[in-house]
Amino acid sequence: MARKSAESVRCALCGTKDVSEPRGDERYCRDCWDKKIAVEDIVAREFTLKRYIRAHSAEKYLVYHATQKRPIGQVQVIDDGYDLFLTVLLYPSFVWDDQAYHLENDPEHRTYAEILVDVIAADVIEPWGGGKWHLEVFRSIGVDPEEWNGEM
Ligand SMILES: [Zn+2]
Repeated sequence: MARKSAESVRCALCGTKDVSEPRGDERYCRDCWDKKIAVEDIVAREFTLKRYIRAHSAEKYLVYHATQKRPIGQVQVIDDGYDLFLTVLLYPSFVWDDQAYHLENDPEHRTYAEILVDVIAADVIEPWGGGKWHLEVFRSIGVDPEEWNGEM
């Protein structure tokens, strides 16, 4: 068990006693925390959400990653007038469960799937006005979705 007392908490990355971040769960000094956020930011920027359908109270986005030409997932958002309902579909063509970055000695590991949720919050939820939101994540087993088009 980790012993937690004011004296034993040291920055997870550099070992200094001067921990101040994140608030309420201080485990990093300010410098290391800034470095961690900067790295997460770079990783997050490798994702691009391209809006593909825009309707009055719904949108659909395709998720791209800098390393791949084809989309690696999709996001649908529905606004019922009160809350936002988001459905994320992750394609198996991307390493969603891999660690998104590595910092020496960092005990906290974040996956690409977790970073994508940050991107969705910033690029989709905030522009919609924020508020209460619900997010469901599904994994697709097909590399690409099947496309069916029809008219009756
Ligand atoms: Zn530090």
